[in-house]
Amino acid sequence: MAPISKKICLIGDFAVGKTSLIRRFVERQFEDKYLSTVGVKISRKSVEIDPVQQTETLKLQLLIWDIEGSTKFKGIAPSYLQGAKAAIVVADASRKETIDHLLNHIDQFLSVNPKGLLAVALNKADLVDTETLKRLLSIIQYGDRTEVLGTYSTSAKTGQNVDEIFQKLAYEIVNR
Ligand code: GDP
Ligand code: MG
Repeated sequence: MAPISKKICLIGDFAVGKTSLIRRFVERQFEDKYLSTVGVKISRKSVEIDPVQQTETLKLQLLIWDIEGSTKFKGIAPSYLQGAKAAIVVADASRKETIDHLLNHIDQFLSVNPKGLLAVALNKADLVDTETLKRLLSIIQYGDRTEVLGTYSTSAKTGQNVDEIFQKLAYEIVNR
């Protein structure tokens, strides 16, 4: 039987690590050089989920959409976001302005997918000290946007929280 497929988008400013997070999750690899994304690239990855009310483990195929970054905040074509069940919104812990833009990206996603779920990745956690990271995590707030499940400090370089954030979204997509 063909597995159930669900679309997940990675969105966020230029060079925050969207492509790198996908690469870490799907290929278990990391590269220091910039991997430029032209247009959209779709990767597939199967995940296993323990559903709350069923005894059998569920297999889910994630279709992960890597959407091209731009130098300044610029709207993404709504057609790239359409049909997505969830998004990972990425910011760079070493560049404050990318954190300031999180709500723009979140609201853009929600305007296309009002029932979509979101998780925020404060990426490049390996580049800042623990205190800075804690402070940044404490200032990130979502107002009344209950669609945002939470903030994860991630590193595509070390792998920190990368599986966790994808797994959490996959779980919530199935169990909500
Ligand atoms: P994108 O434009 O959001 O897709 O960003 P990329 O994934 O291409 O990453 C931009 C740059 O940041 C590249 O040079 C990556 O090697 C680097 N990078 C991405 N994630 C991390 C991370 O978690 N830690 C560190 N130190 N560098 C990262
Ligand atoms: Mg990219």
